[in-house]
Amino acid sequence: MNNPLALARPEILALEPYEHAAWLPELTRLHANENPWSDAGDPPGASLNRYPEPQSAELCTALARVYGVAPEAVLAGRGSDEGIDLLVRAFCRAGQDRILVCPPTFGMYRVAAAIQGAGIVEVPLDHSFALDARAILEAWTPAVRIVFLCSPNNPTGNRIADAELELLLAGLAGRALVVVDEAYAEFAPGSATPGRLAGHPELVVLRTLSKAHGLAGARVGAVIADPGIIDLLARMLPPYALTAPSIRAALSALAPERLRRTAERVRLLVAERERVASSLGRLTSVRRVWPSEANFLLVEFRDAPAALAAARSAGLLLRDLSGQPRLAGCIRITIGSPADNDRLLAALGERQ
Ligand SMILES: *Cc1c(COP(=O)(O)O)cnc(C)c1O
Repeated sequence: MNNPLALARPEILALEPYEHAAWLPELTRLHANENPWSDAGDPPGASLNRYPEPQSAELCTALARVYGVAPEAVLAGRGSDEGIDLLVRAFCRAGQDRILVCPPTFGMYRVAAAIQGAGIVEVPLDHSFALDARAILEAWTPAVRIVFLCSPNNPTGNRIADAELELLLAGLAGRALVVVDEAYAEFAPGSATPGRLAGHPELVVLRTLSKAHGLAGARVGAVIADPGIIDLLARMLPPYALTAPSIRAALSALAPERLRRTAERVRLLVAERERVASSLGRLTSVRRVWPSEANFLLVEFRDAPAALAAARSAGLLLRDLSGQPRLAGCIRITIGSPADNDRLLAALGERQ
């Protein structure tokens, strides 16, 4: 089997990581220049005067359990955005290497590449926003170190077909990392990319607590990959990346009772998505509602500015994508609470 680290930047492979203060919670900490007193107003047990555990073992174990992988295959960071940034910095040499993206898709891959000075190869999705694995394989060159895929894709809402992913993993083995960003996987039953890790050391999966788990404000996401890749990224991560309150919030969100409630809320949002999609589909102002497996809808309007204005006057913010290539007239609408969705339908329906 190929070693995916052969694709990494040599200077990152050789990096001497920062040596943080030892983590031995049973001992009194006179080794990290912390203040001995916590503030009386801190939540009980918060210990905000102390540095948090770097890469909390408890959090990685809890994430690994939920995603069905080994704890060594998990890196916890500040949202999947941090995972994207670390991957690009670890695998792309500035001015030489490239990432490959399939627009229209999530914008952070491109931003992370631009910051690192990596080039961008584009292989657009087809007319129905499906991924074209053969076109990706044809566009690959040795400079392409990472292929970023998003499933379900933001903003189109559709999932990558299993057969296309298999084709890519086979064709790119030893040639590039295949990163599958699954920020919305919980809304798409049957997405189980982490289960493919065993046979595919180049596969990297990104998951997040920001969407289905309702923790966007805590900034916690996971990179799931071959333990060698995880170890490499962990050495680049700032020593105390996740704050103590974020670690605690994530652990609560991953407890069995909360996971049950999350699953219920996901079911409700999926039912609401279908209700909103069919109601919008009946409006004469709507040209097309794209099928979605996420918690948002991509909707093509006959007059996008008018739809945005109608929503805005009802106090609702939507994401205008109409200026982007291939998305003329399109607006991305997040599924809200049933009451939010009713307000949206009322605001857009009045215009007929
Ligand atoms: C929202 C989103 C993210 C960002 O997730 P964080 O974990 O909050 O950084 C990543 N990828 C996609 C496709 C998203 O839509």
